[in-house]
Amino acid sequence: MPCQRTHLLVKLYGMTHQTRKVMNIAIIGAGAAGLAAASVLQRTHAVTLFEQKSVVGGLWRTQDDFKHTALYPSLRSNLPAGLMAFLDFPFQRHLIPQQEGDYPGPAAVAAYLQAYADHHQLTQKIQFKADVTRVSPIDESQWLIELADRPAQRFDAVVVCNGHYTQPNRPIIEGALESGLKILHAKDYVHPEPYRDQRVLVWGSKASGMDLVREISTTAKQVYWCGHDPDLEALVRDRRNVSIHTDPIRLHTGGVQLADGEHLAGVDQVLLCTGYQYQFPFLDDALITIQDNLIHGLHQHILLAKRPTLAFIGLPYLVIPFPLFLIQSQWLNAVFTGQLQLPDVPKLIALSEAAVAQHLANAAAPRHFHRLGADQLPYLAHLIESAALAPLPETFLARLKAVYEIKLAHPQDFRAIELPSQTFRDPLPA
Ligand SMILES: Cc1cc2nc3c(=O)[nH]c(=O)nc-3n(C[C@H](O)[C@H](O)[C@H](O)COP(=O)(O)OP(=O)(O)OC[C@H]3O[C@@H](n4cnc5c(N)ncnc54)[C@H](O)[C@@H]3O)c2cc1C
Repeated sequence: MPCQRTHLLVKLYGMTHQTRKVMNIAIIGAGAAGLAAASVLQRTHAVTLFEQKSVVGGLWRTQDDFKHTALYPSLRSNLPAGLMAFLDFPFQRHLIPQQEGDYPGPAAVAAYLQAYADHHQLTQKIQFKADVTRVSPIDESQWLIELADRPAQRFDAVVVCNGHYTQPNRPIIEGALESGLKILHAKDYVHPEPYRDQRVLVWGSKASGMDLVREISTTAKQVYWCGHDPDLEALVRDRRNVSIHTDPIRLHTGGVQLADGEHLAGVDQVLLCTGYQYQFPFLDDALITIQDNLIHGLHQHILLAKRPTLAFIGLPYLVIPFPLFLIQSQWLNAVFTGQLQLPDVPKLIALSEAAVAQHLANAAAPRHFHRLGADQLPYLAHLIESAALAPLPETFLARLKAVYEIKLAHPQDFRAIELPSQTFRDPLPA
C-alpha cells in the first residue's frame, strides 16, 4: 500500500514524501526575486542559484553606459527605501548617497541586494556566469537544468526568477514603418539630451512614462503624453511643454492619429513606455502558454498547476516588489515542505483556469492578469493565511499608507517630500 500511495503522490504532485522534506532546488536568477527565494528555501532545502551575470542584484546592477537595461542614470526608486526593503532586512541608510534622500538610485539598490545576499550567506550557493538554456521535466519527479557552458544538473524543483524587464513590449501601431518616425522604447532611454528641441510623443502612463515625460520635458520642445490613465494632468501641471492625449492609433510622416480622432501634426520621435513582456526562453511551450502577456496554468501566480514543482517568484507587477517576493517564497516553502497541502493536480489546473476566467469575465485585458495594484494586499493576505505565515508587520502597512498619501498629495514631486519620521524611524522587524 505505501508503495501505491507514493506512486500516486509522484503522479499527482511530481514529488514524493521524501522530496517534500528536503528538496534539491534550482533557482534561476540572482536578482531580488532569486535572492528572496533562496533566503527562504535554504532554511529547509538544498538550493543552487544559477545567474548568467557575474554578480547578484539583477536589474539593479547596471552597466556604466546604461545601454540594454530598463534603468537609466538619473533613475531613483519610486518607493522609499524603508518600504522597498525585504521584510527581514532593513535598507541601511549608509548605502544611499545623501543626495538621493529616501529614494535610492540603482547603485544603492544593488548594494542593498549584495548586503542581503551576504546577510543570508547566499553567494556560495550561486553559480555565476551560468546561463540556463533549458529546463525540462525528466521522469515523474525531477527536472533537468541545461546550461550554456557546463554539464546539465538534476533537481527536484525549479524556481524561475529570471525577471520581466528585458523584453520590451512594442505595440504595433499602424503606419509605423512607412512614417519614418524614430520609435524607441523606454529600455533604449539613457538621458534627455537626444530629445533636445524635439517634439516627442511618449506613450504609456505608468511609472516609467511619468518619470520619462518629466525628464524629457527638460530638453524637448514639446512632449505629447499619450495614455488612458485618469489624472495624468496632475502629474505634469508644472510643465508648460507637456500636453495630455489619448492612445495613438496611426502614424504617418510627421504626424499621429489618436484614438479619439485628434491629430497631432508635428511629431519628431515616439518613445514607447508600454512595458515589458514575460519571457522564459528556457521553458518548452508545452509547459506554459503565454497569451497577450498572461501566463496560463499558474496557481496563485506562483506554481505551475500541472507540475507543481516548477514555480515562479516575482511575476506580479504594480506591487511593492521585494516584500511580495519574500511572502511568495515563504508560501512556496510551505508548499514544498508539505506544511501547506494543496489540492491535487486536476483541481489546481481547474483553479488556475477559473482565476483566468474570472479575470477575463470582468472585461479586463489578458495582459493585466498579473497586474495586482489594489489587489496586492488581499493577495498577500491570502498567501499569508493559507500558509499560516507571519502577518504583514504593522510598520509595513503604516509605511504603505503614508507613501500612498504622499503620492496622492504630491504626485509630481513625491520624492522631495519628507517622510513621517515616526513611521519610518525604526527598521522593519526581522
Ligand atoms: C524602470 C524600472 C524601475 C523600477 N523601480 C522600482 C522601484 O523603485 N522599487 C522596486 O522595488 N522595484 C522597482 N522596479 C521593479 C524591479 O523589477 C524589481 O525591483 C526587481 O529588481 C525585480 O527583480 P527580479 O529578481 O524579479 O528580476 P531581475 O532583477 O531582472 O533579476 C533577474 C535575474 O535573472 C538572471 N537571469 C535571467 N535569465 C537567466 C538565465 N537564463 N540563466 C541564468 N540567469 C538568468 C538575470 O541575469 C538577472 O540577474 C523597477 C523596474 C523597472 C523596469
